[in-house]
Amino acid sequence: MGQINIILIGPPGSGKGTQATRICDRYHVPMISTGDILRAAVKAGSPLGRQVQATMAAGALVSDELMIDLVRERLEEPDTANGFILDGFPRTLAQALVLDDMLAGRPCPHAIAFMVPEAELERRLTSRRICSKCKTLYTTGTIYGSEEELCSKCGATLITRDDDNLETIRQRLLTYRNTAEPIIAHYRGRSALAMIDGSRPPDAVTEDVTRYLDAAGRTPR
Ligand code: AMP
Repeated sequence: MGQINIILIGPPGSGKGTQATRICDRYHVPMISTGDILRAAVKAGSPLGRQVQATMAAGALVSDELMIDLVRERLEEPDTANGFILDGFPRTLAQALVLDDMLAGRPCPHAIAFMVPEAELERRLTSRRICSKCKTLYTTGTIYGSEEELCSKCGATLITRDDDNLETIRQRLLTYRNTAEPIIAHYRGRSALAMIDGSRPPDAVTEDVTRYLDAAGRTPR
């Protein structure tokens, strides 16, 4: 069975994380979320975490150099032999170009770009919660609800991400708007891109994603 390398592109709140979790189960490849890796580093108070904390809190991008080193190291882990799903990388054209070099000798990656109107992204991000333990994502009906909410999978408390406040959300959306187009054009130019309407319910999006990936040459194991 061949290797499948998947790159998810999309603004914050477009469903990359949700779809990544579902696809990695289906294709048995690890999900590599650079945002998750950085948040874990911040939480642990590691040197990396201390270095990126202020940048993340401001909704800006961490330096290419740092991100490239981080992803290079991660892709050298043996669990990527079958492929991987990248969620949140590349975020700049420079990252995309270096990623091409890193993937030399592997099959060409399949990029999926999720499109969602900004008003919907704001709505989702302001009502987003994440399980403090198993990291399951939820879009609740409430904005910064004061009542304690619990994860339906593991029972732990749901929390709001530090950067899911309106000011930072708007900055992150702006950052995306300023950087995404060249990345999308890069993958479009190699005919390795699917543009998917991410404004629909997650199941409908997953259907499109798996249809694209299955047709791209691999059936689930
Ligand atoms: P995410 O969870 O993907 O929304 O990422 C959260 C934050 O981590 C972003 O707002 C950036 O500050 C940082 N980050 C994650 N991935 C990257 C990347 N590939 N390049 C630069 N910064 C990143």
